[in-house]
Amino acid sequence: MGRLRRLVPRTFQGRLTLAFVAILALTLSLVTVGVLDRLGDYFDQQQREDLTARSLGVAQYVALVAESASTVRPVVGTDNVVDPGVVVQLTRSTQQRILADRLAKADVLIRLGTLTGGTFMEASGGEFRALLQAGALVGQTREPITSDTIYYTVNGTLVPYVVEVTLSNPYTYRATALATTTGLLAVIGLIALAVSISAGATLARRITVPIRRLTEASRGLAEGDLARRVPDDPGQWGSTELIELATQFNTMADRVQESVEIIRHDRDRSRDFLADVSHELRTPIAALRTFNELLRERAGEDPTARTEFLEASGVQLERLDWLAQNLLELSRLDSGLVLLDLRPDDLRSTVEQAVEQAEPAARRRGIDLAVHLPEHPLRIQHDPVRIGQVVANLVGNAIKFTPRGGHIGVAVGPAPEGVKIVVTDTGVGIDAAELPHIFERFYRGTRASEARGSGSGLGLAIVRSIVEMHGGTVGVESRLNAGSTFTVLLPRDPRRANGTNPGHPVGGDPIMAETSSSATLKMNPDTAP
Ligand code: ADP
Repeated sequence: MGRLRRLVPRTFQGRLTLAFVAILALTLSLVTVGVLDRLGDYFDQQQREDLTARSLGVAQYVALVAESASTVRPVVGTDNVVDPGVVVQLTRSTQQRILADRLAKADVLIRLGTLTGGTFMEASGGEFRALLQAGALVGQTREPITSDTIYYTVNGTLVPYVVEVTLSNPYTYRATALATTTGLLAVIGLIALAVSISAGATLARRITVPIRRLTEASRGLAEGDLARRVPDDPGQWGSTELIELATQFNTMADRVQESVEIIRHDRDRSRDFLADVSHELRTPIAALRTFNELLRERAGEDPTARTEFLEASGVQLERLDWLAQNLLELSRLDSGLVLLDLRPDDLRSTVEQAVEQAEPAARRRGIDLAVHLPEHPLRIQHDPVRIGQVVANLVGNAIKFTPRGGHIGVAVGPAPEGVKIVVTDTGVGIDAAELPHIFERFYRGTRASEARGSGSGLGLAIVRSIVEMHGGTVGVESRLNAGSTFTVLLPRDPRRANGTNPGHPVGGDPIMAETSSSATLKMNPDTAP
């Protein structure tokens, strides 16, 4: 069995071809055996009928010869003895040649006798044999068959008698016909075999070539060549199943490439994020260490210096705390662990409260802060604390980047798809080249250092995350030295805008849920009242 298995080709093409050939060979053998067997039977049957027909002729001829030979006695006497004259006549070689070579064309056995009660009684001296001696015609051979025995009754004489004739071993074309048929079948078989081998190989190639292409593309993918695809030209694939397979393979490869790119991008972002966080933490920690060292030295004895350093340390601690809170919030928002506490509240009060909190800072910095609210309530499904945070961050930035005497306007109103919150300032503005980056984490514009107070580049990233969790968008328009306008568009119901799971822009079930009330954010110490 094992040896047999080793003989079977290992390639698909080889196996398919072998299967084709095996099936064909089996079919042809069965057909050949069946045809030859039936043909042999048919010949035998024909020959036997033919011999029997000739037997009658032989019997009639024997009767004629016997009649003419028996002049004195009946052919078969009442004593059941054949007339010697008849015996002489029938044993003559000329008569035997006529009987065997001309009439019967076979070996002849003749018995003369009588019928008694339906049974043949051979007469004494009544058996004659004539063997076939004539040469065969082209294609003829002797066939070992025997005819049915016939009984020819002769009644017109004094004593009725019976001629029994049996013919055997005639010349036939049976062997030649069978040999010709076998040869013909063999030629047909060989042609069919050749056709089946080439058809099997062609068919197998039509399947194996695409499979090989798929294998090569898969290997390319596995080795990291994510751009590897199979050609999806239908002409190269043949059947619809294989075209479908190629299309599915390419779709799968597209998805794999997309996912890997997302993972790579996330990995790069996480790496950058970690580097930025470390960098951000170092500044306040270094300042704190310096103050601490100074206080431990001489400055600690000077009450004025001590108060100053302690206050400065407090500001840095506040900043560290703010940074930690914002980092935590941002990573929670991004990881999708936060669920929004959606309520159908009036957006006007959410915005009003956030603006009110920023008013003292604006006043202190000599900036006019005005809020424009519509007369009618704007009830939309939103998380009031987090939308409040959005407004606070935008207004905080506006205060930070607007010089004394400037104006800040906060307006709320309906929009085609929901509502909009617009925060406008007459501040320093943002360079066009920086605009695409300002919502990135830790991105700080080149003019950020000119502005009062310093930022960490997290405020707008948080704004964008919260707005996107609400299924909304945030955009900005700005001109340098003229001012900026931030526009937040929110849908009426984030559940309909986002799908079923607000708070998860990427999708997936929350592992942890937390209501926003416990995640109240601190204001940026730079702009806090
Ligand atoms: P930061 O804490 O530095 O303010 P943000 O994420 O809030 O961080 O803002 C990122 C950058 O976007 C800022 O450094 C600043 O360059 C720019 N920016 C944001 N808001 C304004 C504004 N109202 N006017 C001018 N520039 C702004």
